[in-house]
Amino acid sequence: MPYSKEFAGKGGHIDLVKNPDVQNFLNECECLTQPSAEEAKKITEDYVLWEGEGGKLPDYVVASDASPHKEAISGLFPSTQIGYVKNSMIIIEVSEFDNLKPINSNFVDPFKVAELHRSGDPISFTLPGCNVRYKGAETVKDGFRMAVYEQLSDMRTSFTNDKNFNVVGTLLAIDNGEVELERCPACGSQEEFKFKKNEEVQRCAVCEKDAYITDVMRIHEQISDLGDNGSAITRFMNVVEHLIIASFIRMVGYRDPSLLSRMAFIIDGPLAIFGQPAKVHTRLLRLYAKVRKHLVEKGYQPPLIIGIQKTGPAVEHAKALSPYIPIGAFKVIDDEYRHKYIAARSEASTNFGHETYYGQDFIFKTRNGKVFVFGLVYPFSKKMPSIAEDEEALSNSKVRFSREKVEIDLYRPQLTQAMNLITHFELELYENAIVPIALAHRHASISLVPGGKVLDILSKKGMNL
Ligand SMILES: [Zn+2]
Repeated sequence: MPYSKEFAGKGGHIDLVKNPDVQNFLNECECLTQPSAEEAKKITEDYVLWEGEGGKLPDYVVASDASPHKEAISGLFPSTQIGYVKNSMIIIEVSEFDNLKPINSNFVDPFKVAELHRSGDPISFTLPGCNVRYKGAETVKDGFRMAVYEQLSDMRTSFTNDKNFNVVGTLLAIDNGEVELERCPACGSQEEFKFKKNEEVQRCAVCEKDAYITDVMRIHEQISDLGDNGSAITRFMNVVEHLIIASFIRMVGYRDPSLLSRMAFIIDGPLAIFGQPAKVHTRLLRLYAKVRKHLVEKGYQPPLIIGIQKTGPAVEHAKALSPYIPIGAFKVIDDEYRHKYIAARSEASTNFGHETYYGQDFIFKTRNGKVFVFGLVYPFSKKMPSIAEDEEALSNSKVRFSREKVEIDLYRPQLTQAMNLITHFELELYENAIVPIALAHRHASISLVPGGKVLDILSKKGMNL
């Protein structure tokens, strides 16, 4: 099944590989190849059978979907672009699942998809792209920074009536009310910005331009005046999707920790932030450690936060290996395994994903023989000691983290919950690329919209939030 279509290739692709220069180049490269039957058997030897089946499921599942759009503005130069990002979140009640007759079809109803994006108001953001200077900013980049701040600090990402739980509120809360930035995002000079509540915009003493609390995410660094800014808009979409879910988790944890402990959150893709905003992953790690502590102190189980990957090298590897993985077995992807079988080492780090990941990946084959790659949040508040001693100590702690992050016992009971949840929803999680749409398709779902109404809607539906 895997590899079937992607590698069939079109004419041009085959010609390129036939080109002698390309051939010579390829001869000098080492690539990971699909394992032989014998290798596959050996690789899967240390997969562990999962014994925890039949545990309790979460009562509610929250999933989100974001999509970027980029468009030229008519009547202007063709390179004049505007970016548009939509984010939809749904919640489904798991107990209703058994009462519903699943629809026996892999077909995702386009009307249902449109409905999900239309129902209520999905959270939407408009950002200046190439050749657009927002509100008279001197550069595209400065205007972009301003637009990002305005939209992440207003009510559109808040699920309550105030701004405590919007994205900016969450950035502040994670850093205990004070977010620091050492360099001016406009002129690059050394500064000491300290952003606090109601002091979220500060002026640079050198260039006298505004610096915004949201600049710490560094999304703007990819923006240029004339280049295609699509990738910055995609980065914005990804990091903001993770932060909106984080804000929602904070809000429920604050309002009703008992309810939060009965919820699961499904994130599309690995628990990681890539590109310029990558550092945000350390903030998410810190936040989820706080949430965990808060719930445990109150006697509740932390919520299940799970990232499900549909594409990428780990998924290709798992699918290729699938016939050899015993039914109901799982494997934690440790760094050695990853570098040996999944992906050639792409960074000189002794800890995979050191700059990007906030969760640990696992491979799991359900009783019905479907394989999944999923991630669980690391059970730590940070990866490194806060005081960096010398290079050697730093390197040692990376090695230590790389070892500690794969200790299975640290992930129970979340691991059991995750595999239960995957088994329960395996059809919808497996067949459709977009999780919330697949869930919304087969189950009664409520679209979560920003603003204070969320709590009303949920309590009206009998979800005692
Ligand atoms: Zn400056």
